[in-house]
Amino acid sequence: MKSRFSSAMIFAREHANRELTTTMTASAEKVNLLGLPKTDLEQFFVERGEKPYRARQILKWIYQHGVSDLDAMTDLSKSLRTTLKDSACVSVPVEEARQDSVDGTVKWLFSSGSGQAVETVFIPEPARGTLCISSQVGCALDCAFCATGAQGFNRNLTAAEIIGQVWHANNNLPMRSNGEPAVTNVVFMGMGEPLANYRNLVAVLELLLSDWSYGLSRRRVTVSTSGIVPHIDRLGDDCNVALAVSLHAANNRLRNRLVPINKLHPIDELLAACWRYAKKHSNRFITFEYVMLRDVNDSLANADELAALIRGKPAKVNLIPFNPFAGNEFTRSSAETIRRFQERLRERNIVATTRKTRGDDIDAACGQLAGKVSDRVRVRLSKKNLRMASA
Ligand code: SF4
Repeated sequence: MKSRFSSAMIFAREHANRELTTTMTASAEKVNLLGLPKTDLEQFFVERGEKPYRARQILKWIYQHGVSDLDAMTDLSKSLRTTLKDSACVSVPVEEARQDSVDGTVKWLFSSGSGQAVETVFIPEPARGTLCISSQVGCALDCAFCATGAQGFNRNLTAAEIIGQVWHANNNLPMRSNGEPAVTNVVFMGMGEPLANYRNLVAVLELLLSDWSYGLSRRRVTVSTSGIVPHIDRLGDDCNVALAVSLHAANNRLRNRLVPINKLHPIDELLAACWRYAKKHSNRFITFEYVMLRDVNDSLANADELAALIRGKPAKVNLIPFNPFAGNEFTRSSAETIRRFQERLRERNIVATTRKTRGDDIDAACGQLAGKVSDRVRVRLSKKNLRMASA
C-alpha cells in the first residue's frame, strides 16, 4: 500500500479548504447559505436581528424550489433581500461536463477549484432515481480495485459542494411522472470516504432528511464506508440512515490487500461496529458490498467464508461485478462465477443480490469514478490521522 498522509498536511489543506470554500462559492466575505444546516442558518439570521424562522423560508426556497437567486425569494421583504445580498449568496456547483449513457445514466463533472473536479452519477430506474454523490476530491484510502483510490487525495468537499450535487441534479433533470423531484435516493458511493469527512457528512445528512429541505426518508439515504470503525459508532448515534460497508474479502489477509484500512480496523472490529449500528436502529440490515475479482475473491470457498462471517446477523450482500479501469491489475469475474457465488450465499441463508452495471459506456459504473485529482496530498493512514481528518 502506498503511504500518502501527514496530519499537518491534512490540517493545512483543511484550512485552505475553508478559505477556498468561501472564495470559490461567494465573492469575498459573503456567506454561502447552501449547505448550512438549519441551526446555523437560524444563527445567521438572529445575528442580523432577524427572526429564526427566516431560516426555514430560505431552506424551502433553496432545496424545495431549487432557487439560488435571493431576489426570487419573494416571501422575504425587498429590504431584507437587499441586506441579505450584501452578506450572503447561494453559490451552487459549477458543472464542467455532463455525459449521458445509452441506459439513461447521467454523469456530471463538477469543478472543485484549482483544476480539481469530482464526479456525480444519476441512475434512473422505474421506481426510483438514485444519485451517487462524492464526499472528497479523490480518496486517501487506496482500495486496490478503485479508480478514485488510484487518483490519490486532494481535500474534503464542503457541505455546500456535497449537497450542491443533489441541488444540481434535481434542477437539471426532469421531474418524475408523479411530480416528485428526480432524485428520490442518495448514496454516498461516489469519490471519497464519507466518514473521513464526518462534520460535513452530518450537515448534509441533516439537509437530506429534514422536512424543511429535501425530506427524504432515512431508508432512502445510504452512507457507504470502507470501515472507519469509530465513525460508524458515531454515525449510529448521530444519524439513523442506511449503512453499506465495502467488505470485498472475508479474511484479513485478503482484505488487507484489497482494502488497506483493514490493517487499522480488521474484520472482527468492523463487524462488531456494524452489529452495534444495526442494533441501535431496530436491527436494520447492513449491506455488505463485495466486488467480484476473477481468481482473487470469487471462489465458492470465499463465498462460504463470507457466509460464515455474517450468517444469522442483520446483513445482506451486494455483489458488484468489477468495472475495469486503465492501469489496474484485476479482471471481472465471469457472469457464471458471480451467479454461482450468489447462489452459494443463498444456500447458506444469506440475502444476496448482484448489482446491475450501469453507465459503463461513460465510465460511470461503480469503482470507475476518477474526476480530476492532480494536486495530491500525501497521507499516511493511521488511526490518529483519520481521527483528526474527520473531526
Ligand atoms: S472504494 Fe471508497 S474508500 Fe476505497 S479508495 Fe475508493 S472511494 Fe476510497
